Amino acid sequence: MEKAAIEGVFLAINRRLIDVEDLRDYCPTCIQLLRFSDLYDALYCSVCNEWIEITCDEPECERCQSRPAHPLTDSGEEQR
Ligand SMILES: [Zn+2]
Ligand SMILES: [Zn+2]
Repeated sequence: MEKAAIEGVFLAINRRLIDVEDLRDYCPTCIQLLRFSDLYDALYCSVCNEWIEITCDEPECERCQSRPAHPLTDSGEEQR
């Protein structure tokens, strides 16, 4: 058996190699690096303007309750 030149599993997208281990940092839809909202403590994709993490079911959780439907405003700012 020949040894593979690159160890591990990579995804080649737009000529970029992404280690599968790092895929959780990327949007599953558009494969852009995700951003993190400190305000809502959640990952989101700034290209899709979608939250990646779903909200929890706890009715007392203010962070999830106050989270806007989309993370960014039309001008690309984080919603508050
Ligand atoms: Zn995306
Ligand atoms: Zn919550």
